Amino acid sequence: MKVAVHGASVRPDSRLRAALCALARRGHAVTWVGANAPACDALRVVSSDRELRPGDADLVVGERSALALAWRAWRWHARAGLLAIRATDLAGWGFFERWGWDTLPLQALIEEHEGEHVRTLAGDLPLERFVLWHTEGNPSERPSSPDAELLEHAGERALARHAGPMRRPVFFVDRDGTLIVEHGYLADPAGVELLPGVADALRLLQAERVPIVVVSNQSGIGRGKFGVDDMLAVMARLRVVLRERGVELSGIYVCPHAPGAGCACRKPGTELLERAADDHQALLAHSWMVGDKLLDAATGRAMGGTGVLVRTGYGAKEEEGAAGSEWGRPDRVFDGLAQAAAAFLASRDALDTA
Ligand SMILES: [Mg+2]
Repeated sequence: MKVAVHGASVRPDSRLRAALCALARRGHAVTWVGANAPACDALRVVSSDRELRPGDADLVVGERSALALAWRAWRWHARAGLLAIRATDLAGWGFFERWGWDTLPLQALIEEHEGEHVRTLAGDLPLERFVLWHTEGNPSERPSSPDAELLEHAGERALARHAGPMRRPVFFVDRDGTLIVEHGYLADPAGVELLPGVADALRLLQAERVPIVVVSNQSGIGRGKFGVDDMLAVMARLRVVLRERGVELSGIYVCPHAPGAGCACRKPGTELLERAADDHQALLAHSWMVGDKLLDAATGRAMGGTGVLVRTGYGAKEEEGAAGSEWGRPDRVFDGLAQAAAAFLASRDALDTA
């Protein structure tokens, strides 16, 4: 995400301050506009919005006033917003604040202990647009902080809702061996190396407004080979490398468990895809899951969509063993992501004209 923060609206004691720093450390491009910037090396700080360049902000973030945030969104060409509010803010909202709320796809962040109070004040404001901060633990600038996770998903949900209420086909894609060179338990951001044709393929999907969602098994965490922060540093590097090539990922979902842990999120389990489907309004039956392992393709079929194998990474070897594999045969097989992306678009177009 490309995020611009209305700095003057953010309270000095807000959870948002640390969470925005952590969000930037997760690889999102966060620009703090105006006063009160926290000391955070990952943030870009500008003194006024005259320094914002076109395209710097997909999402605006601020506190207190929906009207002020909607105005910034219009001025900064952003598509959606995140608004941290307290019950005292909401209690003072009149017609214009509610108009601001209605004009922008907003997700509102509120403190957990104010949840009930806000619910009574919200009136006819839809509760699905309210998100509760986690209040366990202190605010943290670490990329693995629960607040950063919450902010990331709330922002992605807000952006997805800008695209309208219709559910749409999503391009779910594996990371290692599919987007980047397979290194085996990659824990060093310096090892992020895009496979040939990947950036062009994702740019093509993005130009056609296809949500691109990475779904990755990172069992190295569960096996004790590296930590969550190491994984997030690699994911942050992936976001930055792709942004340098004009691609913004719609979302990243990770299973940290080892095989045999009994979780439902590890592919071919579909929990992550179902969570992503809710955030990104995915139409699973027409979505694809693309990866370099047969279990990636099996995940696509298990979600009720299309399971696709690419011959990069482990893919060519996996294809050879497909006949006797417990995961079964993939629905489609392609040499690489470029061919898979082109075929996805062709299938979507066929759907539109059917
Ligand atoms: Mg893989």
